[in-house]
Amino acid sequence: MKICANCFNDIEIKESVEGMPRENGICECCGAEGDVVDISEVEDFFCELLSLFEKDDNGRPVSVIIEQDWNIFSSIASSDKILGDILNRNNFAYSINDNVSYIQDVKECLNVWDELKKEVQTEKRYFSNVGAFDWSAYIKSNVKINKGTVYYRSRVIPADKKELKRKEMGCPPADKATAGRANPIGIPYLYLCDNIDTTFYEIRAVYLDKVSVGRFVIQRDLDLVDFNTSTNLFYAFNSENNDDLIEFIKHKILFKKISADLSKPLRRYDTEIEYVPTQLICEYCKHTGADGIMFKSSLHQTGTNIVLFNKDDAKCTKVYTKEITNVTITGK
Ligand SMILES: [Zn+2]
Repeated sequence: MKICANCFNDIEIKESVEGMPRENGICECCGAEGDVVDISEVEDFFCELLSLFEKDDNGRPVSVIIEQDWNIFSSIASSDKILGDILNRNNFAYSINDNVSYIQDVKECLNVWDELKKEVQTEKRYFSNVGAFDWSAYIKSNVKINKGTVYYRSRVIPADKKELKRKEMGCPPADKATAGRANPIGIPYLYLCDNIDTTFYEIRAVYLDKVSVGRFVIQRDLDLVDFNTSTNLFYAFNSENNDDLIEFIKHKILFKKISADLSKPLRRYDTEIEYVPTQLICEYCKHTGADGIMFKSSLHQTGTNIVLFNKDDAKCTKVYTKEITNVTITGK
């Protein structure tokens, strides 16, 4: 089967196909005329990926799961054709029309976070079965931030004040620290963002609010657990120093789930029990020696949130006063 780069959405595969010796022809997947390569050039990767699924009447077609979880193809139709061809020619126990789910090993990783959440919210908390799963294989520092890196944190200026001072921009004292997604009540962590706009979203600033923005400088090199690992699947498969694709996929699935819960906005009607699982994970990160965590902001798509376990690791060096003049709210 001859395929073209346009049948893929995944940037690494696209670039890899574009970098191969290509011939002019018709893509047997999308029908377009142009540069094509033989499917065998990328087949090893797909065979390994497809081997992580098994027939399951309660599942969904493999092309749908792969598209939804990994966004590799330019459309479900391309996913169907390319994966269908590979499944037909190789010895798989299921076909493109069968319903499948991830194999047990991956499924275990998919469920472990939900099980932990249920346990610490409804069964037992401080001596949970957290040890039954090898969290240490996945949760460890994976990113360094250097001394001197600048982050931001904002607070809405109370009506009776003109501005806030540097010392008022840090985290609240322990006796005033309410619980958050990352920190338990009474144990303050420093929540920062990698850009100013994200801080406005994170504090839910509204039109005409006056806001103080603190500029925070990191005081020493820090090791963080970044839950938003952006490494590409195809890239990971082809890089020499990587473990198996299955380990990589498990890691990514687990981090995606934890990250989604970490970045869920706090709501007025939340109970603190909702925050217990993510607090526990943060405690675990701290226990492994990490200085903090990182995850994507769900309120501002391009922003990253940074949580430092020790407030002295970042120092507020300047405070700017801003007024919120433009608010974009869209519904769906
Ligand atoms: Zn094509």
